[in-house]
Amino acid sequence: MIKKFIDNLIAGATGRKPRFGKRQEVGPEQHAIDPTLVDERALSVVHTLKEAGHEAYIVGGAVRDLLLGLRPKDFDVATNATPEQVKSLFRRAFIIGRRFRIVHVVFGRGREHEVIEVSTFRAYLDSAAAEAVSGNERTSKSELAGMHHAVDASGRVLRDNVWGPQEEDAARRDFTINAMYYDPERRIVVDYHGGITDAKKRLLRMIGDPASRYREDPVRIIRAVRFAAKLAALGFKFEPKTKSPLLPSLPLLNEVPQSRLFDEMLKLLQTGHSLATIEQLKTLGMAKGIYPLLDLVVERAELPFVRAALQDTDRRVGEDKPVAPSFLLACVLWSDVREGWQDRLARRMHPFPALQEAIDEVFESRIGDISGRGKLGADMREIWMMQPRFEKRTGHTPFSLVEQPRFRAAFDFMRLRADVGEVDVVLADWWQEFSQASDLVREDLVAALRDEQKKQPRTRRAKPAAQDEARDLQPAAREAGDSVPADTDGTGGDAPRKRRRRRRKPAGQGSPGGDAQGGARSGTDPD
Ligand code: ATP
Ligand code: MG
Repeated sequence: MIKKFIDNLIAGATGRKPRFGKRQEVGPEQHAIDPTLVDERALSVVHTLKEAGHEAYIVGGAVRDLLLGLRPKDFDVATNATPEQVKSLFRRAFIIGRRFRIVHVVFGRGREHEVIEVSTFRAYLDSAAAEAVSGNERTSKSELAGMHHAVDASGRVLRDNVWGPQEEDAARRDFTINAMYYDPERRIVVDYHGGITDAKKRLLRMIGDPASRYREDPVRIIRAVRFAAKLAALGFKFEPKTKSPLLPSLPLLNEVPQSRLFDEMLKLLQTGHSLATIEQLKTLGMAKGIYPLLDLVVERAELPFVRAALQDTDRRVGEDKPVAPSFLLACVLWSDVREGWQDRLARRMHPFPALQEAIDEVFESRIGDISGRGKLGADMREIWMMQPRFEKRTGHTPFSLVEQPRFRAAFDFMRLRADVGEVDVVLADWWQEFSQASDLVREDLVAALRDEQKKQPRTRRAKPAAQDEARDLQPAAREAGDSVPADTDGTGGDAPRKRRRRRRKPAGQGSPGGDAQGGARSGTDPD
């Protein structure tokens, strides 16, 4: 640390190019950041830290977005205060993380709560040491042992050793446009790597030598795709040297833990530009090979059902609404579930265990054993398990279904199925009405349906054989007397269906409360 400090002093005195880029401060006339896009809570966190005598800046993706005139979806703050110092300054602040400890400063409560992540400037360690202290799971114990000297002379990995000056913190970030700091009080952007110029030139450029930076952390390959897709609409292109090692570096991803890849894949699909992401993957020759489930998403993005789900996700991100990865993945894997289910029904299995077994099989084959994904898996399961229950609209069933915590997501899923002709639109409309109605009106809706069905058995029997077969596969539908087409590929297939389609209404009206993919809210809760 002392040696580095002296090195820097010498570099400063002799005018030698500093190792970590030259600090540039840019004022509002040049960066033109709109102060109204800055989150108040981020502002107050920076203010509190500075009042206490520390350095503090908005950092990373938020500065990038501000510079591009976009409203950042979240704000991170970087400071030279230690996590303990940060924590002591805020009423509700929590230190998280074991090795790289960061502080979550929490504002508000319940669903509306907001977290500002505050991290202490980190030292730039050479790649080996960086991996060792980051606790990267792919670093083996023996590798770690060999690296300790890079971290600490005593051979121990000391947590506090990772703190460093701002210039080092900047150098360990990935892209030049992600490595800027914004002081919202002085309205100054601090830039060490030409991020401002690159933002103007619409250039996606990796700091340092791109090939080594991908080697250091292969997840940066996926991040590159993410930012390219997110920023394509603004005209961003890769700097050639940043792009060329991407494909050859792909095998490095084999060393990355599955859970991290899974998370990165989800981020890739939730930029609000998922279709652009898929195009980007194809252009880069990476349509296959990042992660099996992602390969499948790319492949299935051609199917109307999956495409509709991706578009729905993009729309929600664009409207600043929360997106549920469980919903998207449930859509992507639905054709597998349906096939497995129908195979079992054909073997005369009882419908519910058949569906359950089919789901288990899909989890086994497509998702694998990703620890810590319990909630996501449970949500997917619920969305699927509720599908046949929509067919039963008699007695108390609809009343209890609508009260299920995941009703809304399951309904939206069914609405998408109706949109592609897999389910009768009349059924989706009925549920929409039912979920939004008062109890009294709900009783009427069920009664009216009962009367209608009493009048209908004759015409139903007269339907073509293909449909009877479809209905045989769906005992839940038989009970309720509804038609369920038998196509299994999510494309609408060739099963007969009613084509009384009603377009999805625009945002905010399309589904109960307009909250496609909505979380655990009831169907009558508009947002
Ligand atoms: P988004 O808007 O999608 O959140 P982001 O740039 O904020 O994009 P984050 O994953 O939130 O991305 O990371 C915050 C910042 O941390 C980045 O801008 C970058 O400076 C740094 N960073 C994150 N992951 C890495 C990585 N793997 N290697 C280097 N720097 C990283
Ligand atoms: Mg971010």
